[in-house]
Amino acid sequence: MSPVAINGQWLGVETNGVFTNANTDPIPGGRLWSGNGRDVGAARAWLDARAGYISAGGRPGDFVPAGPNSSSRSRGAQDWFYRHQPPAAAVPYTSNHGWGLAVDVKTREAAAWLMQNGPRYGLSHDEGARVGEWWHFRYVGRYSPPRDGLAHLTRTERQLCRELDRLRREGRDPARRQQITADLTLQRKRIWKAAQSSGWDVRQRRTRYRSLLARTAPHTA
Ligand SMILES: [Zn+2]
Repeated sequence: MSPVAINGQWLGVETNGVFTNANTDPIPGGRLWSGNGRDVGAARAWLDARAGYISAGGRPGDFVPAGPNSSSRSRGAQDWFYRHQPPAAAVPYTSNHGWGLAVDVKTREAAAWLMQNGPRYGLSHDEGARVGEWWHFRYVGRYSPPRDGLAHLTRTERQLCRELDRLRREGRDPARRQQITADLTLQRKRIWKAAQSSGWDVRQRRTRYRSLLARTAPHTA
């Protein structure tokens, strides 16, 4: 159970400043809360917002945390920042950075985009505005990703997934379904292989892999 109530919802990691591979997911340049059965979580919301920024022409390098402690912030880092004010830092173990919910974004360009578009992703500047920090955004919950969840895919992957989803819904053309499933399986393996050499956090590999896996795992064929 997450311990912070925001807009009537419990959000964030179990213990402020304590992060694991289970309670947070990587984002380029940091980590954020991975969500629970009731909420998709801050990492997914951030990644989708980032993808939106990039597809609107933004530079990927703009839309990242400003530094290594600018998204999830460990207990040790919170202590350090508190002892080394200014700049002002929250009382240790109370910050939304410690709940895995906040990001201090690197550039004005990304901040401006987030001011305008963040609310669609559950990303709010409310707290940042209160403390006078243009860079501070927090996840306030209730983000609901596009239903087909295909925003991160390449054009070809997206077309194949859409076609497959439609044929399955309509229960039509098993041969074509089998062909698409085979193509997507091959593509999923390519992504996995590429990730082994240059990592999961480039070219949306993680989310693409998950989308393809969801469609090509043996039990879905
Ligand atoms: Zn902040």
